[in-house]
Amino acid sequence: MGTTRFGGEEAATMMAELRGTFSTGKTRSYEWRVAQLRSIVKMLDEREGEIVEALRSDLNKPEFESVVYEVAMLKSSCKGAIKELKQWMKPENVKTPILALPSSAEIVAEPLGVVLVISAWNYPILLSLDPVVGAIAAGNAVVLKPSEISRATSSLLAKYVEQYMDSSAVRIVEGAIPETSALLEQKWDKIFYTGNSKVARIVMTAAAKHLTPVALELGGKSPVIVDSDVNLKIAVRRIIAGKWGCNNGQACISPDYVITTKDFASNLIDTLKQELERFYGAEPLKSNDLSRIVNSNHFDRLMKLLNEDKVGGKVVYGGQFDKSQLKMAPTLLLDVPQDSLIMSEEIFGPLLPLVTVEQLHESFDIITRRPKPLAAYLFTNRKSLKDKFVRTVSAGGLLINDTAIHLAVQTLPFGGVEESGMGSYHGKFSFDAFSHKKAVLYRSFIGDAAVRYPPYTRTKMGL
Ligand code: NAD
Repeated sequence: MGTTRFGGEEAATMMAELRGTFSTGKTRSYEWRVAQLRSIVKMLDEREGEIVEALRSDLNKPEFESVVYEVAMLKSSCKGAIKELKQWMKPENVKTPILALPSSAEIVAEPLGVVLVISAWNYPILLSLDPVVGAIAAGNAVVLKPSEISRATSSLLAKYVEQYMDSSAVRIVEGAIPETSALLEQKWDKIFYTGNSKVARIVMTAAAKHLTPVALELGGKSPVIVDSDVNLKIAVRRIIAGKWGCNNGQACISPDYVITTKDFASNLIDTLKQELERFYGAEPLKSNDLSRIVNSNHFDRLMKLLNEDKVGGKVVYGGQFDKSQLKMAPTLLLDVPQDSLIMSEEIFGPLLPLVTVEQLHESFDIITRRPKPLAAYLFTNRKSLKDKFVRTVSAGGLLINDTAIHLAVQTLPFGGVEESGMGSYHGKFSFDAFSHKKAVLYRSFIGDAAVRYPPYTRTKMGL
């Protein structure tokens, strides 16, 4: 947390300074944008060790996950933007109708202005800076408000971002609700928020006051359907990688619950147990490869899900925890009631309920009667099932025969739908998220059609 108070006055002053910078036009130049993106890469290269340490301090995040899923992914995002930026910035020529001939038309991408990025604690480097990459690539000035919950990472960002980047156009504000509320009072040209859907409503309400567009990157209960015809070992490993291998389940696209048939459940559970033990050992609380729960509020929230009466006796694997160290083991639960808390709220932690059905096609009902999730996963070799999945299930993104990895595909938009969010980013979608697509039509004085001018006659109407 910052040591000096940040309130409405400071927010207004900062906004005035950033508007001043934006109005000079400096953030619009290709050279400025590329220089800023290169500075992010430089910062990541030179400060990787400190980033890993900050993430360890905030989440006990394993070095592998910090380096691969935060630093390397962000670097790849910057490098992709640097490589493609000239192309993205080029006006796009489009066809015009006979009615407007002779003419030509183009779509010109222009920056929105001064934008605000509010990010969450679970991937505090990636989720803070990846939207900033889009904002900078599109030529905006930007304020980043990292999550106060990942305190070490927030102060690391505060220390380095303005140092490496052009602080006349890129600012960091540390803080919690009061600071964010002060920022939200300002008139932004876009607000990009990552976090839960309750706060998203606060953000959207504040934005509505100024008619500010928002992107809301939220979460939800991401289901996994497992068919019996799969390569079970690979399927299970991929479920584990997307659940416990991503911040011990504290990831927005973590598998939230698994659906399989009654006949196949014991096979699936046995293989999950074997592979979990192979990866994290017989005493997973001692494993260095699992993040801890971020804080005691979230720990207590997860314990409440686990201890609900309706869930009693449903744990089939795991269930160990150590509150003093905020550690919680990978935990499998079988056939908890659909109306239990754990099947109602986003879990966002290491608990994984398995739901069994007579026939796999019943999964579609279970999924579609719930709010639309951020991701949905299917493991199968059956084409008919894949087709039905793609046709029937609405989610931010679908992934077949793996989990979570679609996040790394920069050619796919990443974002939610309905309760899981609005707007998307990654790759060119990040550039688009922070650009206004301006319609430009060019006409000349040749070929002026008299038909459009009064007096209007039936002949002119073609009658
Ligand atoms: P969080 O507690 O860090 O909150 C997110 C941001 O909102 C923080 O910067 C915080 O300061 C701010 N905030 C909190 N309360 C506020 C208030 N009353 N007014 C204004 N600002 C406020 O993170 P979280 O919400 O616990 O994050 C977890 C949620 O985010 C999960 O639902 C998860 O699925 C989702 N998530 C989504 C994505 C995605 O990319 N779609 C990524 C990560 C997390």
